[in-house]
Amino acid sequence: MSRVYNFSAGPAVLPEEVLKEAQEEMLDYRGTGMSVMEMSHRSKMFDSIIQEAEADLRELMQIPSNYKVLFLQGGASLQFAMVPMNLMKNKVADYIVTGQWAKKAWQEAQKYGKANKIASSEDKTYSYIPDCTELPVSPDADYVYICENNTIYGTKYKKLPDTKGKLLVADISSCFLSEPVDVSRYGILFGGVQKNVGPAGMVIAIVREDLITEDVLPGTPTMMQYKTHADNDSMYNTPNCFCIYMCGKVFKWLRNMGGLSVMKQRNEEKAAILYDYLDSSKMFKGTVVKEDRSLMNVPFVTGDKELDAKFVEAASAAGFVNLKGHRTVGGMRASIYNAMPKEGVEALVAFMKKFEGENGNV
Ligand SMILES: *Cc1c(COP(=O)(O)O)cnc(C)c1O
Repeated sequence: MSRVYNFSAGPAVLPEEVLKEAQEEMLDYRGTGMSVMEMSHRSKMFDSIIQEAEADLRELMQIPSNYKVLFLQGGASLQFAMVPMNLMKNKVADYIVTGQWAKKAWQEAQKYGKANKIASSEDKTYSYIPDCTELPVSPDADYVYICENNTIYGTKYKKLPDTKGKLLVADISSCFLSEPVDVSRYGILFGGVQKNVGPAGMVIAIVREDLITEDVLPGTPTMMQYKTHADNDSMYNTPNCFCIYMCGKVFKWLRNMGGLSVMKQRNEEKAAILYDYLDSSKMFKGTVVKEDRSLMNVPFVTGDKELDAKFVEAASAAGFVNLKGHRTVGGMRASIYNAMPKEGVEALVAFMKKFEGENGNV
């Protein structure tokens, strides 16, 4: 068996300990004689799996008791529609467009009401977070929407926007559990788990209870009402049982690692190794303004497409895989999520130095 250093943006690297545990439990989960994949979601055994997962997540994120935790399907992308369908009472919402995912959410919301783009960084290929201290927030906006960490472009809000008292909704897919978060500052946070938490196929939405009502847009499908899932503890229909089980294991792993403050410190250390090198390299350059750099997704370029391609290929052959940048940015992107060990980033930087030495202009 040989494992690579996987820098994929998602689905992405998972902690090896978690994968091994799942392997050990695959044929016989704790004396049941079956795997979690084969188990009724209404069984006692699964009930304890989902309840423990929720309890561990609540502990990790210090989720206040007036927030519901929902394990939903349809990915983060379905939330782009669920948010307006459930929250757009005035049919007005404000969006800050800082990348492709925020743009998709903004475009989706236009189907349901007036979705205003109140700030954007599209003018510079989303390489920064716009100033959010004096936003033209609409007086009748039902919420202000952000994508907190921009997976493709590698930017992150270091400070939440001033929403002038309006509800804040955030897509936290690619910074989920990467650092402590004050849940009480948001109305809704949601994240697809395949970036930093678990396997693909699930989104976790953390929703303030007073926002969970029957007063949704006419025609909203039952499956797309937060209330349906909140009333049924995420078991209105068959949930993604295996994904919940795997996420639960990752939550335990995070707790054993010391929780989110420790993860933040680790993530800062890891990211600094890569950013410091990018700042000193003559060949590789980061694409994002320094103040807004993500701890999770690090895009970089050489400025020469052929050299980029050569690097990606050589890196892959050396066991550093999925470094090719998103097609809209080009170049490279290293996603260094929680489960990427520090040694992986150190080894990547050592490889980049070697590549620069061998291919740079002398
Ligand atoms: C990947 C990603 C999405 C899309 O997630 P799906 O689960 O594939 O729908 C949305 N937002 C962000 C920030 C992402 O990184």
